[in-house]
Amino acid sequence: MRALVTAVCLLLAACATRPAEPKTDPLNPAAEAYVKLVLEIGELEPGYVDAYYGPQAWADAAKADKRSAPQLKAEADRLLAQVEAVKPARLDPMEARRRAYLIAHLQSALFRLDMIEGVRKPFQDEAQALFGVRPEVKPLSAYDPVLARVDALVPGAGPLAERVDAFKSRYVIPADRLDAVMRAAIAECRKRTLAHIALPADESFTLEFVTGKSWSGYNWYKGDAKSLIQINTDLPIFIDRAVDLGCHEGYPGHHTYNALLEERLTKGRGWVEFSVYPLYSPQSFIAEGSGNYGIDLAFPGEQRTRFEAEVLYPLAGLDPKTARAYADLRDAMRELDGARTTIAAMYLDGKIDRETAIALTQKYNLMSRARAEQRVAFTDGYRSYVINYGLGQDMVRAHVEKAGPDQTARWKAMETLLSEPALPSEL
Ligand SMILES: [Zn+2]
Repeated sequence: MRALVTAVCLLLAACATRPAEPKTDPLNPAAEAYVKLVLEIGELEPGYVDAYYGPQAWADAAKADKRSAPQLKAEADRLLAQVEAVKPARLDPMEARRRAYLIAHLQSALFRLDMIEGVRKPFQDEAQALFGVRPEVKPLSAYDPVLARVDALVPGAGPLAERVDAFKSRYVIPADRLDAVMRAAIAECRKRTLAHIALPADESFTLEFVTGKSWSGYNWYKGDAKSLIQINTDLPIFIDRAVDLGCHEGYPGHHTYNALLEERLTKGRGWVEFSVYPLYSPQSFIAEGSGNYGIDLAFPGEQRTRFEAEVLYPLAGLDPKTARAYADLRDAMRELDGARTTIAAMYLDGKIDRETAIALTQKYNLMSRARAEQRVAFTDGYRSYVINYGLGQDMVRAHVEKAGPDQTARWKAMETLLSEPALPSEL
């Protein structure tokens, strides 16, 4: 197209006097209205807006002028039509992905508005409508062979969940050492991430310890490459959670993802829709999946256990010689992660009651009653969001590891995933 225009200009010899036409992005008006829509949904449902760092005036306006769910659905429909009217043929490949991203997030917002009005769909339908992926729900019996393998690692009498809990209780980080251990873990996750991904020079986080939450850790992104990372201390924290949380909430997890989107898309391209993060949306699938996979990416093979034994165990006052046994148990229990989705599906679809959900969580995720209660409380609050952890991790892993066994290539694929308008359907 550009070549043709140039040829025509040369022919007419009149273009030199005509000012260059400013390139207006046809998606910008809908993108701005989408941000305002998400902010208004956040006024109907506290927690829906996970992060926002766009103009304060837009947040104020959402508070001042509240539209009802039916009005917001009409607005979402209008925006969908507006975005769909922009034909992909007019767009370059990144802009076409931006268009698809807006469509996917508007469709997700429409379904969330249905839910705000009281609509409930079966678990798999809800997950697909909100996050853009239909989860497979395996029968719990598929996890019985894994339980048998874990059983061999913690021999003894009594239910396996109790034996595992007794074993793990020897690996609790003492409360007075928690801050030092967490900071050392996050610093290592950060170092390993910065070796491969350039982050904004002024990026940083603050760390807080909190209580009374159904989650174990949370990253609150504040904009300008700043995050607040909160760690829940309601229950004792095992030593392996330090690296988990450091990578997942910080580097290369949520803090990194948000900082890259802000730098490269919100600021770099002026794509305002990335200044708002609706929690129940396809973005969460990428966020939680990359947060979890980021642990293995940052600490491949034996590197994690080695770092934990050399640095974190001494800081926590634990015996480094016992690190191997704990790592073996952790690795064996990994294959049980999917049971969480099955139990959530059974529970939310009304096939089992709360008490049964707690008992099955103890049995299949091998945890104490208190931890199982916390997990079911999470399911009560966040519902099908739970698919983002296990399935998200599996799909992000498969996507990144298509780059091959080379670590540099994998980090490059991860950086691309975290800094572009990626959708679960692209994984
Ligand atoms: Zn997370």
